[in-house]
Amino acid sequence: MKRLAILGSTGSIGRSALSIVGQFPDRYQVATLAAGRNLDEAYAQAARWRPKMVSLATEELAGALAARLRTAGVSGVEVVHGTEGTVACATHPEADFVVSAIVGVAGLEATHAAILAGKPVGLANKECMVAAGEILTRAALERNVPILPIDSEHNAVHQCLRVGAHGEVKTIWLTASGGPFRQLALEQFATITPEQALKHPTWVMGRRITIDSATMLNKGLEVIEACRLFDVTPAQVRVTVHPQSTVHSLVEFIDGSILAQISVTDMRLPILYALAYPERPASTMTFDLGALRHLEFEQPDFERFPCLRLAFEAAEKGGAHCIALNAADEVAVEAFLARRIPFMGIPRTIERVLAATPEAHPATIAEVLAADREARQSASALLI
Ligand code: MG
Repeated sequence: MKRLAILGSTGSIGRSALSIVGQFPDRYQVATLAAGRNLDEAYAQAARWRPKMVSLATEELAGALAARLRTAGVSGVEVVHGTEGTVACATHPEADFVVSAIVGVAGLEATHAAILAGKPVGLANKECMVAAGEILTRAALERNVPILPIDSEHNAVHQCLRVGAHGEVKTIWLTASGGPFRQLALEQFATITPEQALKHPTWVMGRRITIDSATMLNKGLEVIEACRLFDVTPAQVRVTVHPQSTVHSLVEFIDGSILAQISVTDMRLPILYALAYPERPASTMTFDLGALRHLEFEQPDFERFPCLRLAFEAAEKGGAHCIALNAADEVAVEAFLARRIPFMGIPRTIERVLAATPEAHPATIAEVLAADREARQSASALLI
């Protein structure tokens, strides 16, 4: 029986993880839940799963949850709050495995604490790996703690890598849907509106990630994530635009063999893989091979999607440049949504921030968070 700490339990990955617990009650139990500000959902989850501990964003929300649990006669659930609360959930003595699914750098400290406490981590938070990948992977290596990717592309790569040795890997191919502007002419990028950019062809997601997929910055973050997770150079990672999104990613080996991972597009599958690794439990998530009749793979266009080029450059420099890439993008995306800068202002702003960022390699999480704050300030000043 694995007892889970689920960080980001009210988000979409968190809820999918809980649905896996519901489907495999003989394998998984909920030990702790870290939610954000969604009090109703946190209450429903606490009442249903009876964890040892629940964390909410603020003291006020935590007080409200504790009161509702008391009124309902639910006992034995400790309610905590803030970053310290999230860390307490991640390092709880009764948790055997941590699902890290808090969006943004907010989940960084808890993920690091989980690794230091020797807990295996299922990682759905890509900002953690982008901003602090060097620190997290070193800590995990030293303590022999597995980090299992839940992001669908990296999960696919993890599966493909199981058949070969590290030195036999030639190229990791990350697939990208290409977003809504895959076929738009370069001249038209200047006039893209927030409404157009928020309309993703296949996925309904949060606003930042939807814009990030339109600029392909999201894929750029995944390139950096792949370098850190799998200990490869940026030159060993390539992006291929695959609009059908049925091949979740591929690994090319030095002998010329390419392995691909194909499955239904359902986040519960990578979550189950991460939770059960190295086992493979039977599931009902079957894939119809008929869907493979049309598969396209094309080269991404770095001119129309400069964010991708900037991400490769940041991956090469590492440290402060990766932090700046992520932070500057978040600020620029907000400015674009508020109509303060045009669509192509997003890559232009990121490029200016990167150019102003001195090469550095923060050695602690506190230093990473300080560099993140600095890059955000710099981005606000350099918006264009
Ligand atoms: Mg992805």
